[in-house]
Amino acid sequence: MKIAVLPGDGVGAEVIAEAVKVLAALKGRGLAFEIEQAPIGGAAYDASGDPLPEATLELATKADAILFGAVGGPRYDALPREKRPENAILRLRKELNLFANLRPASVFAELADASTLRPEVVAGLDILIVRELTGDIYFGRPRGIRKLKSGVREGFDTMRYTDEEIRRIAHAGFRAALKRNRKLCSVDKANVLETSQLWREVVSTVGKEYAAVELTHMYVDNAAMQLLKNPRQFDVIVTGNMFGDILSDEASMLTGSIGMLPSASLDEKGKGLYEPIHGSAPDIAGKDLANPLAAILSAAMMLRHSFDQERVAARVEIAVKKVLAQGYRTADIFRRGTRRVGTREMGDAVVAALG
Ligand code: NAD
Repeated sequence: MKIAVLPGDGVGAEVIAEAVKVLAALKGRGLAFEIEQAPIGGAAYDASGDPLPEATLELATKADAILFGAVGGPRYDALPREKRPENAILRLRKELNLFANLRPASVFAELADASTLRPEVVAGLDILIVRELTGDIYFGRPRGIRKLKSGVREGFDTMRYTDEEIRRIAHAGFRAALKRNRKLCSVDKANVLETSQLWREVVSTVGKEYAAVELTHMYVDNAAMQLLKNPRQFDVIVTGNMFGDILSDEASMLTGSIGMLPSASLDEKGKGLYEPIHGSAPDIAGKDLANPLAAILSAAMMLRHSFDQERVAARVEIAVKKVLAQGYRTADIFRRGTRRVGTREMGDAVVAALG
């Protein structure tokens, strides 16, 4: 297995160094892989004038999985769009056809009080949102702003999904559910939208191939409410690009800590790009303050989804639980009575907890 490591900018590089440390500790113990690193984002722009240099794209294309940090920073904000660091990750997702975005939102018992919801509502929360990433109203044509005969201007976008696009994301949702508690909730707006009617029909048809998974359907407005009211009713949620964009951010806030949340973006064959959901955090970069657990948990997702190493993935997740139980906290999740550590010490603690 070949892993392309693209640390990027700011805390991206700091947290990925810790994830690599954890992977290195697992190497040889039943796990074989090669790591190759390349610059991306602002770091690559500084070196070559391109946020996604040809060599980085080639490495990512050839690799079996990609571990990505974060890109961006105020220094690059005035650049034209194609030169901006953030453009590198958008291009990478597109070039590699990473259409399935997996975002877990889980609340470790020790951190239940970090949520804005009552601990008894979120304690033990463990949901996974599978969001379609390459279609829907964000990419549908025609789109634009036009002037009507009356002189009034009108903005318009097109929501569209082909049955093929729905089928492949539905499979991704069912496959993810099979690795978890075998419950899949498909979220749409089939009471109003034609696109959603096709969505519901196709997801139901695909569901016949997964007898072991219990499929339910929910309207997106209700899903937004249920996530706040009783989030633990969900196991896996599968939904389109726009609904998933909104619901996954809502779900991540249930946990209350951006530094804890990993994500994966997968293609049809299971190749994936794994990254913490947070950005490059210029406000804390270079200070050994960033929480590396989202990056470490992203590496665990990589082991599960691209390498099919469920046991090793679980081992990493258990190690993270252990260090939290031992009281280790980076500044973002620190509470009185716990032990405040920096990025590197947190990484070392996870390595030690691997046993
Ligand atoms: P951000 O996620 O970088 O930071 C938001 C807040 O969360 C900040 O207060 C930050 O200190 C904190 N935070 C983030 N990660 C943390 C961690 N690991 N540990 C502790 N605290 C953490 O979002 P932003 O400030 O809106 O964006 C900063 C830069 O990152 C921008 O250039 C933006 O475009 C970029 N960005 C990149 C990605 C990506 O690469 N996928 C995603 C989001 C934002």
